[in-house]
Amino acid sequence: MKIGTRLIHAGTEPDPSTGAIMTPIYQTSTYVQEAPGVNKGFEYARSQNPTRKALEDALAVIENGKFGLAFSSGVAATDAVIKLLAPGDEVIAANDMYGGTYRLFTKIFEKFGIRFIYVDTTNPSNIEKAITPATKLIWLETPTNPLMNITDIAAVAAISKKAKTILCVDNTFASPYLQNPLDLGADLVMHSSTKYLGGHSDVIQGALVMNDPALREQLYFIQKSCGAVPGPMDCFLVLRGIKTLHVRMKQHCINGAGIAQWLRNHPKVAKVYWPGFEDHPGYTVAKQQMRDFGGMISFELKDESPAELKRVLSSTRLFALAESLGGVESLINHPASMTHASIPAQERIKNGLKDSLIRLSVGIEDVEDLIEDLEKAIG
Ligand SMILES: *Cc1c(COP(=O)(O)O)cnc(C)c1O
Repeated sequence: MKIGTRLIHAGTEPDPSTGAIMTPIYQTSTYVQEAPGVNKGFEYARSQNPTRKALEDALAVIENGKFGLAFSSGVAATDAVIKLLAPGDEVIAANDMYGGTYRLFTKIFEKFGIRFIYVDTTNPSNIEKAITPATKLIWLETPTNPLMNITDIAAVAAISKKAKTILCVDNTFASPYLQNPLDLGADLVMHSSTKYLGGHSDVIQGALVMNDPALREQLYFIQKSCGAVPGPMDCFLVLRGIKTLHVRMKQHCINGAGIAQWLRNHPKVAKVYWPGFEDHPGYTVAKQQMRDFGGMISFELKDESPAELKRVLSSTRLFALAESLGGVESLINHPASMTHASIPAQERIKNGLKDSLIRLSVGIEDVEDLIEDLEKAIG
């Protein structure tokens, strides 16, 4: 079955009790048992919920995996992955990634004795060089948030297999419509479902997808033991969002390409970060492992003064100044003070994230209106 059909039908069966075509929101904390231990596979809603199960089945299908697990946020999904590890274990992670992931690693897990080694993963040999007998996990993000760097997932998967480490890819920016890391050899895919999967800026949620039953058992144990599970209403919203992912993503990609080109030709713009440009260092790899280039774009103005930055960030009308991404409406964001403020300034600058960088999450409005909005703001 092709992607559009899978997205719409994945995980959803007519409700067995009524025939309802949409999975109902099973707003319940517990399930009545016929006798102790005699039940329909549902005991307590932290462990199982039918709405969550429908979503988890859908997540597996859309990422070409066998198992899906839903979490109460993207960082809760990441948190569960790190809880597979023990003190003394090492993680090799990208030096350019979502600020909240970096904060979770450095501020929460380092004090439990887990070591994080940050490398430029766009060159996979840097990962190979950083591997030690203590390396248990490789954490990738591609394209990265916010610099749109591309890492060759298949090349890193080969390195990971040789070293017998777990490779987890944060696939939030691409979404399963554009990229399927499990097909490229990754062991785990992580999503902030808050973004493209939900797609309507109305829910916080996270996901993990995998093929290995043993890994699924371990992560399910962590999910129910630590308890970062999403509520049934939120599961319903993400399940509903997934049904239009392909239609939305097509438009995000068209609008993204249009705006990236327009920005690049603008006399006041210094640099545009978008993997669809043929001279982007990750273009060849992106073309191989992604079906299109998405709707996330970062750029820098020639005038790097804080005043000009502030003026542009406050002048758009359609692009709302807000954190987050992947919704139908366009957003503009200042990574250094917003989404990535939890990364120390010197770390940010070392990795190429300038204070003047502006990030756009291009929505699915009419692109002419979006360009007009930017034109008025940039001037
Ligand atoms: C937003 C985001 C996260 C965190 O997800 P939440 O749902 O906000 O907890 C992780 N990775 C990336 C790339 C993100 O954009």
